[in-house]
Amino acid sequence: MTRPDPHDRDIPDAGTPQPSRIVIIGAGHGGAQLAASLVEEGHPGTVTLISAEDDAPYHKPPLSKSFMKAPDTPLQPLRGRTFFIDKGIDMRLGAEVTSIDCRGRRVLLADGSEIPYDRLVLATGTRARRLAVPGVEQEGVFHLRTAGDARAMRRALPESGRVVVIGGGFIGLEAAAMLAARGLSVEVLEVAPHLLRRAVSRQVADAVTAYLEGQGIGIRCGVCVDSLGGEGRVTSVRLEDGPELQADMVVVGIGAVPEVALAEASGLACDNGIVTDALLTTSDPAICAIGDCISYPQAQLGRMARLESVQNATDQARALAKTLTGKPTPYGALPWFWSDIGALKLQIAGLAHDADEDVVVQRADGALQSVYRLSQGRLVAVETLNSAGEHMLARRLIAKGITPDREVMASGDMAALKAAYAAARARRGEARRD
Ligand SMILES: Cc1cc2nc3c(=O)[nH]c(=O)nc-3n(C[C@H](O)[C@H](O)[C@H](O)COP(=O)(O)OP(=O)(O)OC[C@H]3O[C@@H](n4cnc5c(N)ncnc54)[C@H](O)[C@@H]3O)c2cc1C
Repeated sequence: MTRPDPHDRDIPDAGTPQPSRIVIIGAGHGGAQLAASLVEEGHPGTVTLISAEDDAPYHKPPLSKSFMKAPDTPLQPLRGRTFFIDKGIDMRLGAEVTSIDCRGRRVLLADGSEIPYDRLVLATGTRARRLAVPGVEQEGVFHLRTAGDARAMRRALPESGRVVVIGGGFIGLEAAAMLAARGLSVEVLEVAPHLLRRAVSRQVADAVTAYLEGQGIGIRCGVCVDSLGGEGRVTSVRLEDGPELQADMVVVGIGAVPEVALAEASGLACDNGIVTDALLTTSDPAICAIGDCISYPQAQLGRMARLESVQNATDQARALAKTLTGKPTPYGALPWFWSDIGALKLQIAGLAHDADEDVVVQRADGALQSVYRLSQGRLVAVETLNSAGEHMLARRLIAKGITPDREVMASGDMAALKAAYAAARARRGEARRD
């Protein structure tokens, strides 16, 4: 079968206002925000929001945090119960799109039905990276991505016993802290030499490690899982060249992979995600894409990047809603991110991919407060621990391209940082409204 040529049609430029049928695949943070923003921006046509999940759009971050606290903690809905109905959004839950007919401009669903579109938006997110070792397909092993995964894991939580968390990234560490707080004995295994290796500075990683160890959580870095033991139900984790750890439950948090199967099958350009331009349009001008599943020209880095965060998905949705209603809006918002690891609120403003210098701020008691990350002398990211006001100010500094003097950053003093921000803006003749 030959693939349709996605360019073989007469399509108006992105941004041309048109009463049209917009179909969104995926009702996570990006898709749900896009549907709401299209209504707010006055989209005159129809909006169809399709989700493979049975749950109405909900916040994903709590799944590895507060949702695990008690057996009856409810999901946090992204919008009020009747929002989508009241706004006339046609929401289809439990509906998986199995293919896209680009030439005929329609999507085909698993139940055999089809939905035509004038503009299609892929907001398909990611799926959990599966651990590929013998024994992984047993009861008691969980990969955490959806409400369904979280419910299954919560139901299976032992009252006591041992949990082994495989993967020292955000989701694994959030879950580890939560499970330890529930009284379980928790051990984290990480293949890299230290936790959060790709995500934060070494100083923040060390502070998080010390915090988790203080909660009684065992941390083993530089270890590789060989296989999971058990006869249908997991009972242990075997390490390469290491001991066999007893486990009543195993939680796997080894990252996520972009959900690009539909895009690839439709012939859309994909390279570590669905490739888009700054207007979030794919290689097919009738198809846009947002959120965790895309690789887009990242303004701060000056190159293509794929980010996984609520901010990225929702801000892209807002920008795309403007473009699709006739106000072409290249996406260029400053990235920021947060993670709640037990009582530690870690917040990151900006992107530290190219950082070559760190300015470290310590509290009076010696605890880490923040790390200012520079690239060639320019402030590109700030990581803060339980310092929300500093995080908000950091966002403004980076967005405005302001790098305070190193002594000011090292002081971590809010008044001095604010003064540096104001002085830089005054020098540029900018009005100080924010
Ligand atoms: C446990 C957990 C904790 C997290 N914590 C944080 C945090 O603290 N801070 C933060 O910034 N981010 C956090 N994230 C990441 C954040 O949730 C994602 O970045 C965000 O959800 C991305 O939004 P999205 O719309 O791109 O994708 P998603 O929200 O993942 O939504 C994609 C949706 O598309 C649906 N879909 C995919 N394919 C199809 C198909 N063929 N047909 C129909 N539907 C389909 C999926 O079922 C899914 O519902 C966390 C994620 C998880 C899983």
